[in-house]
Amino acid sequence: MADVFTPAPVAVFTTGGTIDKLYFDAKSDYAVGDPQIGSILKEACAQVPYTLTQIFQKDSLDLTDEDRAVIASHVETSDAQQVLITHGTDTMVETAQVLQPMNDKTVVLVGALNPARFKNSDAVFNIGFAMAAVQTLPPGVYIAMNGRIFDPAQTRKNVNANRFEHVAPAEAEG
Ligand code: GLU
Repeated sequence: MADVFTPAPVAVFTTGGTIDKLYFDAKSDYAVGDPQIGSILKEACAQVPYTLTQIFQKDSLDLTDEDRAVIASHVETSDAQQVLITHGTDTMVETAQVLQPMNDKTVVLVGALNPARFKNSDAVFNIGFAMAAVQTLPPGVYIAMNGRIFDPAQTRKNVNANRFEHVAPAEAEG
């Protein structure tokens, strides 16, 4: 585990998802906009050093196996020991499971159930929580959502209840 008192830069990779969505009222339509995590960290006066790289700007339902390989390659080649990935929630477990063999770094996936641009969004809380998690968890791949840490091998998104939940490995998504 890294020295939490002298933080090294966290590599932040963004892939899209609802956290970055824009709502077009006239069309009643959503599109994935620019990454919101940079402004969230700035507004929070976050003092954690980080680098920010936009990999994709996609709804996670549109991410392909090739896209997941690209995300994995960014994680693998990053100099950072701590990696934070913003990602849509629908297939977050799937991507986390692809990354799980790469357990020499601390990798945390985070998103939001409601767009960061909305007043009633979980984005700010989730980003703050995930930034703390990535600095303090031992090497491994984790999902940090709504105040809880999940092991991707034992997690699914309960779409009806709109939350992540711990399940037996055989019931995990992916
Ligand atoms: N389908 C979207 C996605 O997974 C919605 C879920 C979300 O981002 O929270 O990107």
